[in-house]
Amino acid sequence: MPTDLTKIRNLGIIAHIDAGKTTVTERMLYVSGAKHRAGEVDRGTTTTDDDAEEAERGITIYSACVAFPWNDVQINLIDTPGHVDFTAEVERSLRVLDGAVIVFSGREGVEAQSETVWRQANKYGVPRMAFINKLDREGADFEAVLAEIKDRLHATPVVLQIPVGLGPAHVDDPFRGIIDLIGMKMLTFPAGKAGREVVVEEIPEDLQVNASLWREQMVEDLCNYSNKLMELALEEAEIPAKLLHEVIRDATVHRQIQPLLCGSALHGVGIQPLLDAVAAYLPNPMEMPPVEGLDPSGKAKSNKKGSKKATEEEGTGDEAKISRKPDPKEPFCGLVFKILPYKTGDLYWVRVYSGTLKGNSRVFNPGKDIKENVAQLWKIHASKKEEQLDSVQAGDIVGVIGLRDSVTGDTLCDTREPILLESIEFPETVISMA
Ligand code: GDP
Repeated sequence: MPTDLTKIRNLGIIAHIDAGKTTVTERMLYVSGAKHRAGEVDRGTTTTDDDAEEAERGITIYSACVAFPWNDVQINLIDTPGHVDFTAEVERSLRVLDGAVIVFSGREGVEAQSETVWRQANKYGVPRMAFINKLDREGADFEAVLAEIKDRLHATPVVLQIPVGLGPAHVDDPFRGIIDLIGMKMLTFPAGKAGREVVVEEIPEDLQVNASLWREQMVEDLCNYSNKLMELALEEAEIPAKLLHEVIRDATVHRQIQPLLCGSALHGVGIQPLLDAVAAYLPNPMEMPPVEGLDPSGKAKSNKKGSKKATEEEGTGDEAKISRKPDPKEPFCGLVFKILPYKTGDLYWVRVYSGTLKGNSRVFNPGKDIKENVAQLWKIHASKKEEQLDSVQAGDIVGVIGLRDSVTGDTLCDTREPILLESIEFPETVISMA
């Protein structure tokens, strides 16, 4: 586990049913080397759907959070409910993420659930990127989907890649790769490699004018967020890729833009660049705002160990509002977001927002007014390795063994420094959209 928490990306992949969430997830795990075989949804060999080893060990590995390395970061891929049947469950998982990739079908575009999820991600302030998938499908239309993302979602996507060709192999100009508008290169993905290899080529002459126009648009869009970039653009000076990356990252972290990428998850096209973008542009947990909650003891107390500044307090009578920064030195607080059966009992998945959670310790559940035992802490890697940890720090996600009476949505915190995190309202009836 990296001790440098800036190297963590708590990521969720969200989509309307059938847009390709499972396929994107599978390809990411495969391309990262965490999984040796690329599962195929249609053959029922995806990790999520059918995994003999997983079943044998009694762990639904992929249905809470798996960690895998990419470049120099660790991606914690958090399962968000595949199909938006359970709005409350989606909301709960959105609270746990620091960033999301919203997958759109290149043919169907913005669908009902894409709209719902986009709204929810706005509500929770989740920085995000868009991935237009299925560009190899008959009838795929990149520009129409882009227009829908802008119009229907009132979003501010910035196009970082454009497709080369569109549609299946039998059409005149089939989809065969992408143009990276920052590096101004064409990226193709050799058949049979399922996305594990990228071939970088010069942009063919007949595509150069179009690619330059898209790049100009990208730079123009980004000028809104950087004076330095604006100056260089006005001078028609060369714009360093490093500056573009910085501006994109900054505007994404501050939820001003959504980088837009594209490809075909089924063929592994665009998955490596997508992972690069997740590592480069989505925020680390240290960059997230403090979490807020109520002081269940009735009056806000100062943080004895940390500085007073670290714990902001606002006296409002009996229920003072307090907040906790994503800092390992703050008092511990976290949220139980999923409970799954594990070898010797239930594994409670907890997002740690502040402080440090130690194995073999006791924590307070302020909602239930009970103390709970934390016996063991587990991290599950996508490579199927399980790792027992002594402690986890603010920003990370961990499976806890030993809790008994806590339920999904409960706050856990330091017994001496309680905080009750804002709860999520659960609708009484949930309408399935599947
Ligand atoms: P989910 O419901 O969002 O998880 O979508 P799936 O990943 O299960 O994909 C739904 C269907 O679309 C499956 O039959 C996939 O094989 C197919 N699919 C996913 N991505 C692509 C793609 O890029 N191109 C094509 N042609 N099919 C895809």
